[in-house]
Amino acid sequence: MKNSLELIFHTIRQVFAGKQLIDNSNKYRIMCLITAFIHLVFCVSMGAIGANILCYYNIFIVYFYCFLGIVLTNRKKFRVIMVLFFIEVEFHSSMASLMLGWDWGFMLYTVALIPAAFYLANSLTNRNKHVAYSIWLSAFVMVSYIVVSVVQSRVPPIYGYLDNSAACISIRYFNIFIAFSLLLVFSALFALETNYMEQLLEKENLKLGIEASYDPLTRLLNRRSMTRYMSDEIEIANDTTAKFCLVMLDIDDFKTINDSYGHDIGDKVLVALAELIKAEVRESDYSCRWGGEEFLLFIHGDKQETYFVADRIRRKLEETTLKNKYDGTFRVTATFGIAEYKSYMPLRTIIDEADEKLYYGKNHGKNQVVV
Ligand code: GH3
Ligand code: MG
Ligand code: MG
Repeated sequence: MKNSLELIFHTIRQVFAGKQLIDNSNKYRIMCLITAFIHLVFCVSMGAIGANILCYYNIFIVYFYCFLGIVLTNRKKFRVIMVLFFIEVEFHSSMASLMLGWDWGFMLYTVALIPAAFYLANSLTNRNKHVAYSIWLSAFVMVSYIVVSVVQSRVPPIYGYLDNSAACISIRYFNIFIAFSLLLVFSALFALETNYMEQLLEKENLKLGIEASYDPLTRLLNRRSMTRYMSDEIEIANDTTAKFCLVMLDIDDFKTINDSYGHDIGDKVLVALAELIKAEVRESDYSCRWGGEEFLLFIHGDKQETYFVADRIRRKLEETTLKNKYDGTFRVTATFGIAEYKSYMPLRTIIDEADEKLYYGKNHGKNQVVV
């Protein structure tokens, strides 16, 4: 008991902090059980003042809401519950106003139906259609409010003799308080739900943005995001004295590795090299899978510093033993080409220069760093 109360309070806190949504079942269950309780209050008070028709009606309706809140909610018949809820609230408010009089404040409940309609429609599938329903329903609430107001001013209420009694005054304040609280709660829940959805969308967008920037196999930057970062860095370099180099590297005889051990082992080689690169370059540098088995690194610093980084990667790769699928091991090497950025050089030119150095290395024995 203590644990479930704690859970309820925890959930309420989470909902109000905008960190959690109330799931549909709980939403409808709570709504029906609260409404059943309010009708129980009416049942007792109507019995006490001798408004017997309303008392009997409310006894029946308490059972009705328990049925909606337990049986229909378990069967997830949310749309049916929503429609029955609106019909009942509208019917009870009109009936009580016509039998007792306008001053008892029962019609206020129908006003709270408007935010309730929008809030509940939010939780149903096919939202657009349900927003239209909610607008129709609000119009219906308004029309019935006017109709009941007109009718009750012409037809004397059957329990009219209870007007201005102490019961009338207390029930009026009870109705004002509850109806406005419901209006407030439904509006607040609607706002919180919208807020939560917005935050969720932002998070998903961020995730998608990250996904779109990285190569799925190696988790290095992909060509598109690398190009963006390099363009930004070129602007900075043009305005400052900052130096940087690009390193283009390509695995040697990778085709033979794929042919000898299979594509999966080829992929493992790519991942192993990517891990090695990540461990060797600084956080402020960028590494990218430029295509196939070609990688491009952006290194802050001059040719000399970049050469040390590239050659360290080359040596470590050469020393790495990789497992093939036949329990044997093998090694791979790579060739590197380095180009240093000079002011106002177009991005394409420096990439081409690194590429040329790489191909010079490929044609002059591979497994080397060419500056
Ligand atoms: P070189 O030393 O001249 O670079 O020779 P190479 O065999 O590495 O070069 P080549 O360009 O002929 O072959 C590259 C191979 O890389 C061919 C292609 O099938 C393979 N490859 C490209 N992308 C992937 C990939 O994502 N996974 C695997 N396993 N292989 C890939
Ligand atoms: Mg290659
Ligand atoms: Mg290649």
